[in-house]
Amino acid sequence: MNNLTVEAIELTRLYGGREAVSNVSFSVKQGEVLGFLGPNGAGKSTTMKMLTGNLAPSAGSVKICGIDMIENPKEAKALIGYLPEMRPLYKELTVDEYLTIAARLHRVSGKHIKKAVENAKERCGLMHMSKRLIENLSNGYQQRVGIAQAIIHSPMVVILDEPTVGLDPIQIRDIRALIREIGGAHSVILSTHILPEVEMVCDHVQIIDKGKLVFNGGIDVLKRQRVGNKLLIGFSKAPAVEELLKINGVTEAEVTDNNMMRVRFAEAEAPHEAIVQASVKNGWGLYQIAPDQTSLEDVFVQLTYQDAAAEAA
Ligand code: ADP
Repeated sequence: MNNLTVEAIELTRLYGGREAVSNVSFSVKQGEVLGFLGPNGAGKSTTMKMLTGNLAPSAGSVKICGIDMIENPKEAKALIGYLPEMRPLYKELTVDEYLTIAARLHRVSGKHIKKAVENAKERCGLMHMSKRLIENLSNGYQQRVGIAQAIIHSPMVVILDEPTVGLDPIQIRDIRALIREIGGAHSVILSTHILPEVEMVCDHVQIIDKGKLVFNGGIDVLKRQRVGNKLLIGFSKAPAVEELLKINGVTEAEVTDNNMMRVRFAEAEAPHEAIVQASVKNGWGLYQIAPDQTSLEDVFVQLTYQDAAAEAA
C-alpha cells in the first residue's frame, strides 16, 4: 500500500465552455504540507472544490486515501476537513456550540463529541474562548475556529483555501505555525497567492496559472531556482561594463538601479577571485561582492511567463 492521501488525476473543469482548470494531476503524501500557489483567478478554488467533492470535475477524478470521490463520495468526504475561502461560521453561536455542531456534521459519534471539541480547541489555541460568541472574536481567532472545525473529526486530509487572507502579521504568524503543526499528523493542502507563505509552511509546492500546473516540486527545488549564477558587486570607481566582460567566466554585466553592478557567469567558471584581482590592479575600489538571489516573486513570474511563451510558440 502506498501512503498517498490525495490523488488528483487529470482534473479539468469547464465554466461555460472555458477551462478554469485544465488537466491537472498531482498527489500528496501522508504528513506532507502542499502549497497550491497561483495568482487570483488561476484556478485554485475550483481545484480545491473538486478535491473536496463540492464541485464535480468536467473530466478526471479524485481519490482520497485510495477512495474515489465520485464513486464513494460519503466515504471520501469523511476523510477530509475543509476550510473554504469564505469561512462557514455561525457567528451568533459560541465557540463550543459551533464546534459541537461541526463535530455532529462530520459524524463524530455522540460519546466522542466532547473530547473532539476539546482536542480541536486545544490544538487551535481556543481553550480560553469556549464561551465567547464567534462574532465577538478577532479575525485571527475566527480563522482558528474555522481551522478547528476542519480538524474536529481528525481527518486524513485538511484543505485550507487562502487561510491567512485578511489577517494581521501576528495572526498570520500564528496561523502558519498552526498549519505546520497540523501537517505533522495530517496531510495539508494550502492554497495561497503569497509566495513567502509557501516557503515558510510547505514541503512541496505546485504553481497553477491560467488553470494549468506550471511547477510541481519540492520547496528546495523552488528555492534552488533562486540562486542563479549571479553576483552583485559594489565599486567606488566602477569600471565600464566592457571591462568586466573581459574577465574570464563573466558572460553578462549590467549596472543596477542603485549603482551596483550585476554580473552573470558560466556555471563552471566562478569569476569571484578574478574580479577581486582586477579591481585591486585597476583601482576600482571594490567594497562589496555577494551572490545575487532572484526573489521568489521573480521565479514565479519566470515560471508563469515560460508557460505563456510556450503557449504562444
Ligand atoms: P483562484 O481561486 O485561483 O482565484 P478560481 O478557481 O476562483 O481561481 O477561478 C478560476 C477561473 O474560473 C476564473 O477565471 C474565474 O473567473 C472562473 N470561475 C470561477 N468560478 C466560476 C463560476 N462559478 N462560474 C464561472 N466562472 C467561474
